[in-house]
Amino acid sequence: MSQVETKMGEITVNLPDGSQKTIAEGATGADLAKSIAQGLFKKAVGLQINGETRDLYTPLTNGDNVKILKAEDADSVELLRHSTAHVMAQAVQKIFPDAKIAIGPTIEDGFYYDFEIPGHTLSTDDLSRIEAEMTAIANSNQTIERYVIPDVDNQLAEFKTQGEKFKAELLQEHRDHTPTLYLMKDKDGKTIWNDLCRGPHLPNTGVIKNFKLLKVSGSYWRGDEKKEHLQRIYATAFWTKDDLNAYLLRLEEAEKRDHRKLSKDLDLFSTHEEVGPGLVFWHPNLATVRNIIEDYWRAEHRKRGYDFVFTPHIASEELYKISGHLDSYGENMYSAMDIDGQPYRAKPMNCPGHIMIYKSKLRSYRDLPVRFAELGTVYRYERSGVLHGMLRVRGFTQDDSHIFCTPEQLESEINGILDLIDALMSTFGYTYKAYLATRPADSKLGTDEEWAFATNALENAMKERKLAYEVDEGGGAFYAPKIDIKLFDAIGREWQGPTVQVDLNLPTRFDVNYIGQDGNRHKVIMVHRAVLGSMERFCGGLIEHYAGVFPLWLAPTQVAIMPIADRHADRCHEIAKQLKAQDIRVHVDERSETLNYRIREAQVQQIPYMLVIGDNEVTSGQVSVRQRRIEGSKVMGLDDLTKQLKSEIESKQS
Ligand SMILES: [Zn+2]
Ligand SMILES: [Zn+2]
Repeated sequence: MSQVETKMGEITVNLPDGSQKTIAEGATGADLAKSIAQGLFKKAVGLQINGETRDLYTPLTNGDNVKILKAEDADSVELLRHSTAHVMAQAVQKIFPDAKIAIGPTIEDGFYYDFEIPGHTLSTDDLSRIEAEMTAIANSNQTIERYVIPDVDNQLAEFKTQGEKFKAELLQEHRDHTPTLYLMKDKDGKTIWNDLCRGPHLPNTGVIKNFKLLKVSGSYWRGDEKKEHLQRIYATAFWTKDDLNAYLLRLEEAEKRDHRKLSKDLDLFSTHEEVGPGLVFWHPNLATVRNIIEDYWRAEHRKRGYDFVFTPHIASEELYKISGHLDSYGENMYSAMDIDGQPYRAKPMNCPGHIMIYKSKLRSYRDLPVRFAELGTVYRYERSGVLHGMLRVRGFTQDDSHIFCTPEQLESEINGILDLIDALMSTFGYTYKAYLATRPADSKLGTDEEWAFATNALENAMKERKLAYEVDEGGGAFYAPKIDIKLFDAIGREWQGPTVQVDLNLPTRFDVNYIGQDGNRHKVIMVHRAVLGSMERFCGGLIEHYAGVFPLWLAPTQVAIMPIADRHADRCHEIAKQLKAQDIRVHVDERSETLNYRIREAQVQQIPYMLVIGDNEVTSGQVSVRQRRIEGSKVMGLDDLTKQLKSEIESKQS
């Protein structure tokens, strides 16, 4: 596109605004910034060359599309974070000279670095010491310079002398990919520290100002439990103090909402060492919430023409041989149990079971679509390190459904699923974003036509509903393109949400057919979808989303009734009986504690309504009503209160 005349010894690069700049051959991004404006050079911390982030001092070549990344810009925050990780590693090795460094990538909202520190377990106190050392390093304004390792064997020997076994292993692995060190030098140009890294990084540490070490956790070299046990420091960095503080506040809010912590206050669920990790026990309070959600879920499905099914929790291994799960998913399945000499497995997926029901009789095009839905419990192996409260578990109940339809019906079926997703997600107050995950590059399964057909159906359904989506190129399963939906909760955190997949695999493997209008057999189209995902994960997420404050329709106890004195207890039980008759969940708190104490406790339990009954109320037949999060109380007739409760429950308002 360059039409600018370029002389010998010069090159021309394209800038983001469409203009071009001619500079000397061999010039770096820093030279380019300087040639544009001294002020720009001062702010420059890196480059994007042809879309790829690079060091500021990277030499440019003719025709490059170059964007100069500046400090305080959102697109340079990764550079900041990753460079801060090296500063952290340098600080750790200064304080703990025996520490060996592993890897330190950026992650969402921050970064971590893994260390092996013989004989020392990092504490919170250590984190403040490391932070102080990092501040000193940052302020000393070390330069960070890329250095291509000239002699790999020499460097390997050096790493080994230093005991840097992890770096040595990485270098050996990458020896043919032009491995680089980054040298961190003081103001006199003396190398203070170096790290094996591919880069890119900031040109110096002086711009690193707003960072925070967050926590320490255990990890393993290469994530392998059989390898060295390491200590991981999680941290983050932002360009501005305000951004850092806002993030820390968000973390604090998230911590307050942690479903494991709230579960203790609200008596929601437990796990037990003697049972094994990742297996969740639902206590009555949360079981109530789940039952209401399931009732609502069933009602929404019934309206939309789904049929409910149940399938066994174990099945002969044969089933998973046919489905291919044993081959492609075996490592997530629990080992076989012997029944009458035959191997059986706990089910990892509900799909084969639903196929069995579909195949139990001959189906014609007039019977389609068939929509089977099941709150189906499955068991999947997850490494103990990744288990997390209710969010990552080893046994869970999916709100699973499989739709069997003709090709002509596919688009409208997907549309129907998207409608259901929208109804459920908006009821719970989640906003969401859709992604179209397309065929992975290495998927050999199915024909191009089949993939195109299935992908188009998903895409068209979203277009028809005017649902904005992004394409996740190659992000589909090896057997199916899919729509992935990400949810955003009350504090803006992202959660994995509903999925819709058009399966190109199982109908063939199980030979799932219908008789077409032409009297011939045709392969059925099969759609897998889960809306809530799993009851465990969804309810765990919901606890955090609502911060434990369940809206009235979900609240385990909706109304607490408290007699002021013993003589008012009978009236309380009468009221309770009347409300229970209206299907309202009531608890009479007639303990001999003070009224204030009982009110406070009901507030801690997040009970939406509190009724206080004393002499006046007994005489008048009215009730004194307090609402959670509303100051004061008001007196009203029991019928009016019942109406108010019923309508608030009906509306499912938050
Ligand atoms: Zn690096
Ligand atoms: Zn399925």
